Amino acid sequence: MNKPFLDFSDVFANRIRAVMTGNQTRAFSSSLEEARQEAATLCRLQTDRIAFPLQTHSDIVKWVSHSGIFADADGLITQSAKVVLSLQVADCVPVFIYDRRKNTRGLIHAGWRGTTGSITARAINYFIDKGTDVHDLIVYLGPAICRDHYEVGAEVAQLFHKSSLKKSSSRFYADLRSELTLKLLELGLPANNIHVSDLCTYEEPKCCSYRRDGKTAGRMFAFMEDA
Ligand SMILES: [Zn+2]
Repeated sequence: MNKPFLDFSDVFANRIRAVMTGNQTRAFSSSLEEARQEAATLCRLQTDRIAFPLQTHSDIVKWVSHSGIFADADGLITQSAKVVLSLQVADCVPVFIYDRRKNTRGLIHAGWRGTTGSITARAINYFIDKGTDVHDLIVYLGPAICRDHYEVGAEVAQLFHKSSLKKSSSRFYADLRSELTLKLLELGLPANNIHVSDLCTYEEPKCCSYRRDGKTAGRMFAFMEDA
C-alpha cells in the first residue's frame, strides 16, 4: 500500500473512485466522529460531502440524495454526483455496487447476518426499482475475513450454502464472499461483473480485523465517489 489507502477504482474502469483506509484508525481510538474525519482526510475527501450510515448489522438499505449521518442503515445508494458514500468494516464485507449506465452507486455492509439474510437482494432490488438493468451492474466484494479464519457456530453455518462452508474436525468455517457471489448470481448478475478481493483482513496486518484484534480492533473506512 504505497498510498495511505487501498484503491479499487480500476475495477470500475476508474469511472468512480472506490477506496478504503487500512488499519490507521487503530491509532486514534477516540471518537467515531474523529475517526471518520481522519479516514476522510487520508482518502483526500471532504467530510461535508460524505453520507455516513450508522450500521447495526441490519438488512436496511437507504436511498440518499444528500450527505450527513443516516441512522439504522447498513447500506446506502445514491445517484447524486455530489454525495460520497461511506461504510466502516473490520472483517465484514464492503460491497461496492455500480450501475455503469445510470451512474448509480451503492455501498453495503455485509457480515454473516446481512450475507445470509436479504441485504444483497434489497440493495439490488432498490437499483432495479430505480430503473437498473442487472447486466449493467458491476460489483466489488472488498477485503474481508476469509473462510480459513472465519469460524461460525453450527446454527450460523446452516444458513450458508454448502459450497460456502468448510468443515474441519466438527468446526464450521464460512466464506462470506463466496456466499455473496452466489446471491448475486441468483439475482441475475453476470459472473463476469462480480469481482472479489483476495485480501483477508485477518491475515493482512495492514487491515483491521475484529476476529484478530477483538475489542481493540480499528475500523476500515470505505468510500465511493463519482470520479
Ligand atoms: Zn484469512
